[in-house]
Amino acid sequence: MRRFPEPIQNLSAALTKLPGVGPKTALRYVFSLLQLPKEELMQTADLIRELGEKVRLCPKCFNYTQNEFCDICNDPKRDPAILCIVETSRDIPTIEVTGAYNGRYFVLGGVLNPIEGMTPEVLRVQPLFKKLREENQIQEIVLAFSPDVHGETTMMYLTKQLLGFSKRLTRLARGLQAGASLEFADEITLGEAFRGRKES
Ligand SMILES: [Zn+2]
Repeated sequence: MRRFPEPIQNLSAALTKLPGVGPKTALRYVFSLLQLPKEELMQTADLIRELGEKVRLCPKCFNYTQNEFCDICNDPKRDPAILCIVETSRDIPTIEVTGAYNGRYFVLGGVLNPIEGMTPEVLRVQPLFKKLREENQIQEIVLAFSPDVHGETTMMYLTKQLLGFSKRLTRLARGLQAGASLEFADEITLGEAFRGRKES
C-alpha cells in the first residue's frame, strides 16, 4: 500500500483525536492545510502552539484563562455566595450571554458516563468538595447541566453528594427542552431557566 509522507500521516493521526473526525476526514483536513500559502500554514501551527503555551486552567474554577486566575474569579463584582457548576468551560459564555447570572462557576470537566470512563474519580468531584469546604461564603450551588441522560445522572449524583454541605442546592427551571444540550439553548430560554431555578 502506498503511504503518504510521514508528516501527513502523523498530523492525520493527531487530528482523529478531535470529536467527529475519523481517518478520512483527518486526511482531508491535512490536504486542505497543505493548500494554504506556506506563511498561513506556519501561522496556524503557531496558533496551536500558543494554545499549549498560553492557555491554562484557573486554579479556582478550572475555566480556561491566560492569566493566573480567570476573569470571573478575578472580578470583585461577582457574587461569591453563588457557585454554578457546569460541564465544560464552553458552557460559561453560553450562560454569561443571558445576563441572568452574577455568581461564580466551577467546571466539573464532563458528565458522568461510566461506559465512556467518565466516573466521579475522573471528573473534578474531589476538587469541588475541597472548594466547598474551603470557601464557606458559598450559600447556593446551581447545577447547570444539559437536561439529557448524562446531565440528569450527574445532577442526581451531585445532589446526593452535596446534601452534606447543607447549602442551598438549585437547578435550572424546566423549559429547557429535555434531552437538549445547554450549548444550543437560546439565550432567552436559558436566561429564564436561570432566573426560575429551584431546589434540586
Ligand atoms: Zn476562575
